[in-house]
Amino acid sequence: MLPSSLYAVCLQEQEQAALSQAEVQKQSIQEVRRSLPVFPYREDLLLAIQQHQILVIEGETGSGKTTQIPQFLMESGYNDGGMKIGCTQPRRVAAMSVAARVAQEVGVKLGNEVGYSIRFEDCTSERTVLKYMTDGMLLREFLTEPDLASYSVVIIDEAHERTLHTDILFGLIKDIARFRPDLKVLVASATLDTERFSCFFDDAPVFRIPGRRFPVDIFYTKAPEADYLEACVVSVLQIHVTQPPGDCLVFLTGQEEIETCCELLQERCRRLGSKISELLVLPIYANLPSDMQAKIFSPTPPGSRKVVVATNIAETSLTIDGIIYVIDPGFCKQKSYNARTGMESLIVTPCSRASANQRAGRAGRVAAGKCFRLYTAWAFKHEMEESTVPEIQRTNLGNVVLLLKSLGINDLIHFDFMDPPPHETLVLALEQLYALGALNHLGELTKLGRRMAELPVDPMLSKMILASEQYKCSEEVLTIAAMLSVNNSIFYRPKDKVVHADNARQNFVVPGGDHMVLLNVYTQVKRIGGYATQWCYENFIQFRSMKRARDVREQLEGLMDRIEVEVCSSGGDIVPIRKVGYFYHTARLSKGGYKTVKHQQTVYVHPNSSLFEEQPRWLIYHELVFTTKEFMRQVFDQSLEPPRLFLETYWNRDKDERSKVQRDP
Ligand code: ADP
Ligand code: MG
Repeated sequence: MLPSSLYAVCLQEQEQAALSQAEVQKQSIQEVRRSLPVFPYREDLLLAIQQHQILVIEGETGSGKTTQIPQFLMESGYNDGGMKIGCTQPRRVAAMSVAARVAQEVGVKLGNEVGYSIRFEDCTSERTVLKYMTDGMLLREFLTEPDLASYSVVIIDEAHERTLHTDILFGLIKDIARFRPDLKVLVASATLDTERFSCFFDDAPVFRIPGRRFPVDIFYTKAPEADYLEACVVSVLQIHVTQPPGDCLVFLTGQEEIETCCELLQERCRRLGSKISELLVLPIYANLPSDMQAKIFSPTPPGSRKVVVATNIAETSLTIDGIIYVIDPGFCKQKSYNARTGMESLIVTPCSRASANQRAGRAGRVAAGKCFRLYTAWAFKHEMEESTVPEIQRTNLGNVVLLLKSLGINDLIHFDFMDPPPHETLVLALEQLYALGALNHLGELTKLGRRMAELPVDPMLSKMILASEQYKCSEEVLTIAAMLSVNNSIFYRPKDKVVHADNARQNFVVPGGDHMVLLNVYTQVKRIGGYATQWCYENFIQFRSMKRARDVREQLEGLMDRIEVEVCSSGGDIVPIRKVGYFYHTARLSKGGYKTVKHQQTVYVHPNSSLFEEQPRWLIYHELVFTTKEFMRQVFDQSLEPPRLFLETYWNRDKDERSKVQRDP
């Protein structure tokens, strides 16, 4: 034990050491800031913002648009009087990571002056003046603040990504800018499509930040690759062994591929042992825990090489310094939507030429680089689309239509879309909302619809939550809705332990179907309490997803007051829970498969479902997805409450219940 005076001295020394380390870090941060391409344009940019209400900003990825421009605005007083600067990002990971970086640059704790807000996670406080958020979150803010009165500047960043929410924001913000002349609007984009943005925003000027770009040599394969994952692994190792120092970036399509690739790389490096220098293998994808995300930014130790294996999040949203080599298999995972059947699919498809060029560009940021395309030059020319189709044209619009309706925008056909959605998609969304009772037969928002819009979940789920009140099972239904919202990531199924994982999962099966299984898992984890991490691990349950489900549930429960739903429990009794199901998604057993009641489409129970073997006569499904086949995911046995309710809720309502549809006052 140290004498207390000595102890104090030690502490002081430690503090001083920490302090000077912070000083050094601060200095180097300032140096990095000054070195970014946007830095010399600070004054010109601020002048342009002062002179124009709407400005389109174009700049090479990594030039400092996302991290620097909001700081310039803060430094020149755009946050005076407690006004906020908002900056949207299409991706959750980008919003979190960029906010963390900027908080560090500004020298504040994340969540104080600089914060972020993503669905079900609000890391802001009353002090927050610079708020990074997903585009979907800003969209929801229109519900509480239709003119965004607390913002002095809104930056719609990564505009070229053209996500559904960004596209809707374009229309809404263009509209409010007309009666809020004091609001500044910045539309920031990589070097793509900027003329179109300018044209949409009534010929707003384009401010171009000249990029520094070093030449990138592009190499194609002579013949198509049969297995692009294997080809990636081989290419990385070849680069590592034969090429001069410089980090490597590999683009894959999703978590599973990325994990496999990382495992393969690690294993082969282990086998090569000391014959090669050290290779640091780092993954990055949306569901990666944030401490792991931060790792991709730490500098590579001398003598080793870093390889980052990423989804297309690294295409433009995140910039990793030091990349010299890019490996591009030419694929991405893309959502598409069939408006005739309401089927969504997430399929691996060739990426666009615009994407491929962005990917290649990542190699030339710090020095001349090389991009290895694992496809032929012919495929690049003839098999890839010029650019990616905007999401609004290939997704379900139910959520967005409900939101727009609650903002009082009734005439969706004439909404100011940059690219309008297909007519059938709009019609299907309206019809679905009508079936759920959110709209009346005139397409107007009902009282129920208004309450549904308050909940940041799919309309099917919000309807279910609202219906649970009547059947006195809202506790259970909130849990089910939260578990369904975490996206099929509850059960862990590693490739080398499939049998164990499936057995563990079998232990959670209860009668009724997947919704009841999810409820069961949640209840058990909650009961275990403090020991849950270990317990989850042993039972092949992803603890992280459970934590997220708990957060989602807490938030939803917090909103129950606002929509006047009393939270009460059925004691886990399945009978009332069965009654709140979304009858719009009913399917009937028919010759080896199922037929959806609405579209008479043949669909199948997903092999991961607890009802895969049982095949009950009537089912309701949470979602329809096409992967290898038309699958229903998360199904509920509805045989005891046959489709009577479906018919009542939907088909006959028009006739009998038109007068009962609640109209807005
Ligand atoms: P742009 O938005 O123009 O693409 P950014 O502002 O995102 O550019 O990036 C500017 C610089 O900030 C890049 O050099 C990038 O490496 C760095 N940077 C961004 N986020 C982080 C982070 N989380 N950690 C470390 N550096 C980061
Ligand atoms: Mg950016």
